[in-house]
Amino acid sequence: MTREVRVRFAPSPTGPLHIGGVRTALYNYLFARRHGGKMILRIEDTDSQRFVPGAEDYIIESLKWCGIEIDEGVGVGGPHAPYRQSERREIYLKYAKQLVDAGWAYYAFDTPEELDALRKEAEEAGKTFAYNYEVREKLPTSLSLSKEEVEARIARGDQWVVRFKMPENEVVKMDDLIRGHVEVNTSTLDDKVLYKSADALPTYHLANIVDDHLMEVSHVIRGEEWLPSLPLHYLLYRAFGWTDTQPEFAHLPLLLKPTGSGKLSKRDGDKMGFPVFPLFWTSPTGETSRGYREDGYLAEAFINMLSLLGWNPGTDQEIFSMQELIDSFSLDRVSKAGARFQPDKAKWFNAQYMHSLTDEQFVPFVQPILREHGIETTDERAGKAAGIMKERMTLVTDIWDLVSFFFVAPTEYEEKLAKKQWKGDNPAMLGKLRGILEGIDDFSKENTEAVVRAWIEAEGYSLGQVMNTLRLALVGAGKGPGMFDVTEFIGKEECLKRIDALMTNLTPAE
Ligand code: GLU
Repeated sequence: MTREVRVRFAPSPTGPLHIGGVRTALYNYLFARRHGGKMILRIEDTDSQRFVPGAEDYIIESLKWCGIEIDEGVGVGGPHAPYRQSERREIYLKYAKQLVDAGWAYYAFDTPEELDALRKEAEEAGKTFAYNYEVREKLPTSLSLSKEEVEARIARGDQWVVRFKMPENEVVKMDDLIRGHVEVNTSTLDDKVLYKSADALPTYHLANIVDDHLMEVSHVIRGEEWLPSLPLHYLLYRAFGWTDTQPEFAHLPLLLKPTGSGKLSKRDGDKMGFPVFPLFWTSPTGETSRGYREDGYLAEAFINMLSLLGWNPGTDQEIFSMQELIDSFSLDRVSKAGARFQPDKAKWFNAQYMHSLTDEQFVPFVQPILREHGIETTDERAGKAAGIMKERMTLVTDIWDLVSFFFVAPTEYEEKLAKKQWKGDNPAMLGKLRGILEGIDDFSKENTEAVVRAWIEAEGYSLGQVMNTLRLALVGAGKGPGMFDVTEFIGKEECLKRIDALMTNLTPAE
């Protein structure tokens, strides 16, 4: 019987979610949806030292913005609630003890001073210190102390940790859905801490394995940085006797800097002017970081761009809706090699999505921008204005500059255009054109264009001269769409007003 697909995204709330983390969440989500499975959100907040207030809300809001839906987990609930590890703390001690009782782990009472002394000793001998089979018996642990002594120390409140007793010289054989078969000799690994009495909390390794087991996770899809932990995780499944239901593992390639070498960091973004986080973030100390949403990216474009950083569809197709991604995603098309992040490509994707928005779809983006500038208008006009200009848009933040003249008459005139157009016969010509426009009843784009063109021909003007002078009056600058898009949009009355304003306010050049 094949197992129900259950995957989890398990971030630690240590700050804003990096786009690499969003990609991990996305691949989990695509995999879950592709296989009719469940997507779990588990918050791994057992490291109290690294906990950052606000980070969990940020993660949840980011996933929501991205359209990554959670079936079970923090904020949603589900059969294995709670899904926040700090609320599951009483679960883990039992499992830590179970490992100690079975001889897979031990109590360690060493103090920081004792550890430092050993570290120094190793350094002097030219070795790097590792807490492993070579040192565990030299320190005060349940392996070196008597049972009574261990009990006495615990009873009197000495601080202790539980460490995993890494076997000596054993080859752990592992399979990764992306990397294939991997083998590691345990002698290269240390005895990781699993539980700490000081805060009565498990460490990542214990909590992660216990929860994946209890939450019946079938596939662990996570970043490559966790690959070195895989041997320990395999051994933990064995130690608990859970190998039968152990999840399959897939370690995703790193997101690399635009230069291709090294992991993509916030510093790269700051240096080159692009965000590495989905949403704007203000840290508890007031430090801010840019986000894709606030920088003017559409969630769909952002997700499309991320989907292709590490996965390829095997075709030339580049534009994918979420549903298309779900239909085509598979782990065997995820590459082992790191994926280079390209900020220009992110912009390219966004431009493609902006160009394909309908007037209606523009409304939620345009209305807030207009309101910010004190403009109240109907949704229809807001959407239409953006629709006319969309081919020139890359980011949502481009919208105001591109549409403002539809709603606001020019108060200044671009010098270059004014110098070129507002001289000679042009003011008189514009006066005549005003009369023509005033006489038009059907102010639709097509009709106005036909009437004005016939007039230009009859008068013998040049089309460019007339259009550029009209542009100076209506837009105030050498930008904007075709003039008849503008006349139709702003309407006759406003056209005449803007022409009058130019005539009264700007003295013709010599
Ligand atoms: N809490 C870990 C993280 O922050 C989860 C790693 C895993 O998925 O096992 O990345």
